Amino acid sequence: MVQRHDATTLHFDLRLEVDGVLASWAVPKGPSLDPADKRLAVRVGDHEMSHATYEGRGAGGGPGTVIVWDTGTYENVTVRQGRPLPAAEALERGHLRFVLHGEKLTGGFALTRTRMSGDPKNWILVKIDDDGADRERDLALEDRSVLTERANEDLEP
Ligand code: MN
Repeated sequence: MVQRHDATTLHFDLRLEVDGVLASWAVPKGPSLDPADKRLAVRVGDHEMSHATYEGRGAGGGPGTVIVWDTGTYENVTVRQGRPLPAAEALERGHLRFVLHGEKLTGGFALTRTRMSGDPKNWILVKIDDDGADRERDLALEDRSVLTERANEDLEP
C-alpha cells in the first residue's frame, strides 16, 4: 500500500508486507508508471500492519496528514541464480522485484539499494516495462484516498 503524506514536504510512503510487518520507503516524488523514471525511495522503519489503513493527522502526533493513496496485494518475483528469493532476503541483498495489484499501481516494479550519497537508506524505485506501464498518466493529479475518496486537505484541522 501507499500513503500520501502531506507533511513538511509532501511524499509517498510505499509499504510492503514482509514477514508480518510493513517494510517502508518514503518516496519524495511518488511512484511513476513510466519505466524511464527513477524515483528515490528512502528506506524508513518498519510499520505495524495496523498502519496499512491509517488515515488522519500525522501518525503518532507527527506533522501533516496521511491518506491511503493506493492499496492491494503484491507478489514477490525476485529471482536469484534461477531460484525464487524470499522477500526478506531480497531486501537484505538490496534488490526486490515485485508485481503490484493495486487500484492505481499495477504491474512489475523494482526496488534497488544504491550507494548514492553513500547512504544505504537510499533505494531507487522503477517501473518494469510491462502492461502496467504508462508514459502518459500523471499520478500527481490523482490525489485522493482509495478508501474514502478524501484528499489530504480534507484532513487538515
Ligand atoms: Mn511519511
